[in-house]
Amino acid sequence: MSVIAAPASVNAHPRDDPDRPRIRDYLSYSALSTYQRCPLRYYFQYVVQLLPAYKASSLIFGGALHTAIEHYYRQILSGAEPPGVVNLTTPFDQAWRDEQTLPIRYGKGESAQSLRTLATNMLTVFLNSDVRHVDGTILGIEEEFRRSVIPDCPDLLGRIDLLTLQRDVLHIIDFKSSRSRWGNSQIAEALPQMHMYATLLQPTARALGVRQIQLEWIVLTKTKQPAITRHTVTADARQVHRTLAVVRCLWDAIQAGHFYPAPSTQKCTTCPYAETCRAWEGCHD
Ligand code: SF4
Repeated sequence: MSVIAAPASVNAHPRDDPDRPRIRDYLSYSALSTYQRCPLRYYFQYVVQLLPAYKASSLIFGGALHTAIEHYYRQILSGAEPPGVVNLTTPFDQAWRDEQTLPIRYGKGESAQSLRTLATNMLTVFLNSDVRHVDGTILGIEEEFRRSVIPDCPDLLGRIDLLTLQRDVLHIIDFKSSRSRWGNSQIAEALPQMHMYATLLQPTARALGVRQIQLEWIVLTKTKQPAITRHTVTADARQVHRTLAVVRCLWDAIQAGHFYPAPSTQKCTTCPYAETCRAWEGCHD
């Protein structure tokens, strides 16, 4: 791998912590999709490990909502009474507070209070819906899986929101919050992440003797009247193989040091490295 060096002005970013580890010995879907969206942003985030200038409220919101839903299933798993909405907003609030390490950038018309209200509405919809029920057995909640899958590539790593076994079908369930209802294009976009998860779970599936792996998204909309929908597809071996081939290509490009800006109005206006990007003068050997 060529040695990639950012110009001194970039390395001298005041928020950069020189003691942070420089090497990641695994590949996650979020890292790979960051590279696909913009290789230079990947470089700032995962190679140089610069702290972003801010954190988007949508990221913090999504993480806090996950924490609340995780709490719901942990309570179910422990045999406790299903929690009500007040019991779910407590872990949401805690997760929100835990994220106050960087400035938060809010979307238009948003505030901490409006997002708290939105979360309460979304969690109420979740609690009133059938999708919260688990038919079968919970095998994992926010469970991390990691293993070597592709020769000469780092391990793949994934954290699965909810893993259940219903008869001889393994269900990989991912919770999403979205601006609007999902259609086929959102499912197609989200499939590679699930393919990685299905690959990580193959040894588990074999050990359990499951007949099929189902990929499932539970989508909560961040609309005034939140809606909840469930989308299910069966893992297709050919598509999984294709996703792994893409991972291989991406890793080869990263290894070769192909880091360059891929600007677009949509990506750059929400990029927390935009200032650093403008100061960047290129990578050199
Ligand atoms: S500002 Fe745009 S081009 Fe620059 S790193 Fe961010 S997304 Fe990439």
